[in-house]
Amino acid sequence: MKSYHQNNRFDIVFIGLGAGNSLLLLSLIKNNLLLGKKVAVIDIDKKNSNDKTYCFWDDNDAPIVLDLQPIISHSYNNIQFNNKDPEPLNNQSYFYIKSIDLYNFSKLKLQQHNIPFYEDSVVSIEKEKEYFILAAKENIYIANQIFDSRLQQSTIPKNDDIFLNQSFYGWQVALKKELFLPNVFEIMNFNVAQNGYTQFVYTLPFSSTEALIEMTRFGKEKLTPTEGKNLLDQYIKTVYGDYEVVGEEVGCIPMTTIKYPISKFNGILHTGAGANLIKPSTGYGFKNMFYFAERASIFIKKNGFSNISELNKISPNRFAFYDRLLLIILLNWTKWGKPIFETLFKTQKVDTVLKFLDEKTTIVNEIKIFAKLPLTPFLKAVFIYLKNNNYVSKCLSILLIIIYFLLNSMNANFVNYYSYTILIIGMLLIGLPHGAVDHLLLLNKKFSLKNYILKYLLVVLVYFALWQIMPLIALVIFLIYSAFHFGESEVEELNVNFNGIKQYLVSFLIGASILLFIISTHLVAALQIINSIKGINLGSDFLNFIFKINPFVSYCTITVLILFSTLFTKRSLWFLITMLLLSTQTNLLFAFGSYFIFYHSANAWHQLKTKLSLNNFSLYKNALPFTLGALLIFMFIGGYLYFINPIKIEIFEPVFYVFIACISLPHVVLMHFFYKNYKLERK
Ligand SMILES: Cc1cc2nc3c(=O)[nH]c(=O)nc-3n(C[C@H](O)[C@H](O)[C@H](O)COP(=O)(O)OP(=O)(O)OC[C@H]3O[C@@H](n4cnc5c(N)ncnc54)[C@H](O)[C@@H]3O)c2cc1C
Repeated sequence: MKSYHQNNRFDIVFIGLGAGNSLLLLSLIKNNLLLGKKVAVIDIDKKNSNDKTYCFWDDNDAPIVLDLQPIISHSYNNIQFNNKDPEPLNNQSYFYIKSIDLYNFSKLKLQQHNIPFYEDSVVSIEKEKEYFILAAKENIYIANQIFDSRLQQSTIPKNDDIFLNQSFYGWQVALKKELFLPNVFEIMNFNVAQNGYTQFVYTLPFSSTEALIEMTRFGKEKLTPTEGKNLLDQYIKTVYGDYEVVGEEVGCIPMTTIKYPISKFNGILHTGAGANLIKPSTGYGFKNMFYFAERASIFIKKNGFSNISELNKISPNRFAFYDRLLLIILLNWTKWGKPIFETLFKTQKVDTVLKFLDEKTTIVNEIKIFAKLPLTPFLKAVFIYLKNNNYVSKCLSILLIIIYFLLNSMNANFVNYYSYTILIIGMLLIGLPHGAVDHLLLLNKKFSLKNYILKYLLVVLVYFALWQIMPLIALVIFLIYSAFHFGESEVEELNVNFNGIKQYLVSFLIGASILLFIISTHLVAALQIINSIKGINLGSDFLNFIFKINPFVSYCTITVLILFSTLFTKRSLWFLITMLLLSTQTNLLFAFGSYFIFYHSANAWHQLKTKLSLNNFSLYKNALPFTLGALLIFMFIGGYLYFINPIKIEIFEPVFYVFIACISLPHVVLMHFFYKNYKLERK
């Protein structure tokens, strides 16, 4: 193994000297935050070629403009879209920086501050007590603090993550005639063949005869140099006539919803694209990186270098949602890209568009912007978004409850038919099937279908017997494991990573809150069912006590759910809370059934699909025999209870719960081990 030289021990190491780290380095130096620190920069590349251009827009007196003034080669105070008349940018401009100028500017600062630059490739980082060991191809380095601009290769995309390329091929051209307007840049010209993608031309003049003209494509496949050359040649000849190529720029920017996670070590801050600073729908990131560096400096001034990785935390906002919608459209219906951008620039002032892309508009502004855009692709994208995130069933549950209210206001009798119809269909379509694929959860183990069915039925029968012999104990057991099971699938849906006891505790708290909230907001009906179960007779003292504490239970349970929603900032819990609050105005069966079918079962179905990599059809095929089996057991239990008490239809309500209880016990256990093993496999 290579050993490290004492000279290679540093307080701070920057991995990479691209945009993210250059801007951070400049900001830390400007704020005197590297004084007295031993600092080094390692880059795999010499950083001596002009491999990119960095463009951004901002106010003419913005900090980024003032700080980077020495390296801004061009600025434009007019913008043009699709051959329209140029529009002034008022007090803003569009700025152009050559990447080589940024690298040289940073290297000059390195020299001035005696910071060494190593050309080396960092391969791995390990944490050792208070410091990090950086293993690189040539050397080993030690650092207390790391600013890492490499992309984290280990990041696992989520199922609904989108990855598109913004690929471009550009020529710096010289014209014979003076046709460019030096203070006007053209952001998107769609007068080029789309070829099944969203393609446009981008023009940055340097004088009246010279400009950088780039052919850009948003799409899954990258634009090849041959395609780029042909399209550019046609475009330039048509618009400007004869030209000479004096330079070339080729590149590709990821347009993705993949989010790089915060480092697991406190002393490592990801920077640049690795800090999720490139806007997915536009590919712009340079300005974000500058202001990220400013925020990092302010943080370090205040808190020192410890806990700096906190800066990488991202909280999802509505702009991330808009970006995602656009990427869904660009991925699935590429032909919509052109009309969407054309309408955006046609219907909005340039200032508004830039403000929107800067994520600085208000919701009212955004509603006005979206109201003018083509509706169909966005509605389809919203549906795909809801489907991918398993929100369709959640929205449906809210819609069904609203229909329940409407019917109830017209004729209360309708509601019973309606409720039973919805719940029976829901149970057949998803409630039962989600528990009827438990055998798939065992497939990795030594598996015998016969043994599995026998054991499953044995557990169901033993538990059913317990319901007959000691119903109260059976009920308490049911409530406890249901709470845990409901919570476990909710936590799984939240995609938060807890370990061991913390995971169990949070699961139980969430599940118990859901269950107790439904019971406490339908207490009379719930107690009626419990009392109607043979052998259960709750005493009047106990009932009085329950009624006394009931409002407190409702309040506490919903508060717990709200607290978790706020803590995890996940939308799925907010859907759940909305549904639970609405369901306080429905009957108990509809409230519980809605949760069980549209949340719990739908979540589990989605998780099974994802984790077992199966589609709906395969899951249904696997579930069919066991769904039918479950129906048979239901009919058997129902028949048995009808035989001993053949009077009223209401007896089916407790039967329904006893049935769910019996059949769900082995399911709860199997799902628990499924979640647990899946997590271990992913580690
Ligand atoms: C061609 C192109 C043009 C762009 N134009 C714009 C634009 O006009 N405006 C805008 O806002 N955004 C633009 N972007 C997007 C974005 O701003 C840039 O990609 C930006 O360079 C990202 O900064 P970064 O620090 O994450 O990555 P980089 O700038 O690529 O820096 C990463 C550095 O890490 C080094 N490195 C990588 N691996 C190792 C290793 N193992 N060991 C040591 N060093 C390593 C690399 O050599 C590199 O120097 C453009 C992107 C591209 C690709």
